Amino acid sequence: MQQERGRAGALLTIDLRALRNNFRFLQGLLGPAECGAAVKADAYGLGAIPVSQALVAEGCRHLFVAQLEEAISLRAHIAPEIAIYVMHGSPVGYEAEFLEYACTPVLNSLDQIRAWRALAVTKRQALPAIIQIDTGMARMGLSRAEMKAWFADASLTEGIDLRYVMSHLACAEDQLDPMNQQQLQAFQIFLTHLRLQYPSLKASFANSSGIFLGGDFHFDLARPGAALYGVAPVAGQESPMESVVQLQGRIIQTRDIAMGTTVGYSKTWKATQPSRIATVAVGYADGWLRSLSNCGVAHIAGIEVPMVGNVSMDTITLNVSHVPPALLVPGALVDLICPDNTVDQVAKQAGTIGYEILTSLGPRYQRHYVDV
Ligand SMILES: *Cc1c(COP(=O)(O)O)cnc(C)c1O
Repeated sequence: MQQERGRAGALLTIDLRALRNNFRFLQGLLGPAECGAAVKADAYGLGAIPVSQALVAEGCRHLFVAQLEEAISLRAHIAPEIAIYVMHGSPVGYEAEFLEYACTPVLNSLDQIRAWRALAVTKRQALPAIIQIDTGMARMGLSRAEMKAWFADASLTEGIDLRYVMSHLACAEDQLDPMNQQQLQAFQIFLTHLRLQYPSLKASFANSSGIFLGGDFHFDLARPGAALYGVAPVAGQESPMESVVQLQGRIIQTRDIAMGTTVGYSKTWKATQPSRIATVAVGYADGWLRSLSNCGVAHIAGIEVPMVGNVSMDTITLNVSHVPPALLVPGALVDLICPDNTVDQVAKQAGTIGYEILTSLGPRYQRHYVDV
């Protein structure tokens, strides 16, 4: 929906230059290993098509989505030589659509492998795939027992053009968690076995945080998502990533309230002195999470203001008593995600992670892509 900018209740600005800088930074850390990109869930809410196109222009050749449907809608906008991998693999019975739309499945079970091999036999051609193995997350990929079955029967992957073997880290943002080394070791042992059968087999292991665990975790291809979009990759450390998202909400009206007045649903905030309240056109229907009630902040011309009262569906209320009135006119913009209040800070206030703040960004925002 094309919206008139001045009419929109809130503006979401996505900085594609910062995105491209983040990609180049991660590619630099990876050295000879390639930097792919996770663009699932509409590129974490930022827009899969513009984000993917900007990354491809920067040299990215490997895009990862979760579902076939996502891959199909992206394919038409992305050059055919750029790989689009579907991490959930094929929905049962839809293998042929991967050929039609030139998408590559990540095969997560013996059944998915068998179905892909069957299609390769029918088509009399080797078909590309990634195989995912579970090294500890217990979410997707071949289990230890399935790996044994594969080692015992090499014909399982006959006719499959095995592009990469991949696995996924469960705790990579915590660099001290021993699970990182345990998963790395398990992955290396599987790879050593598999290379007896596939001597030049390539591997993909690291997500954003995994890249920062060091060269042992890089292998041939990394799959960062969050860090590209400005989320801090290492817990407890200052983020080296540029912020990509800026969110501004518009003031609808302000009011002066007496001491003792309560604000909003369920009267969860009460003024302890005469106060001025500004109402802003962003609410939980826009992904401004209700858990930010009475603990989020906003900035008006650099002045921090607390969110008071519960987040409503379409609005939030700010205590703006200490802000010059000239900055509070209806239509004025307040900063909700900005350098003073990053995605990670908002996430902390809401009791969640930056990933959820980004993927919740709502459809009502007027979106604006800048690339300068
Ligand atoms: C989402 C996802 C990624 C990207 O993870 P980030 O932490 O956002 O970098 C990589 N690999 C798999 C399997 C994923 O599901």
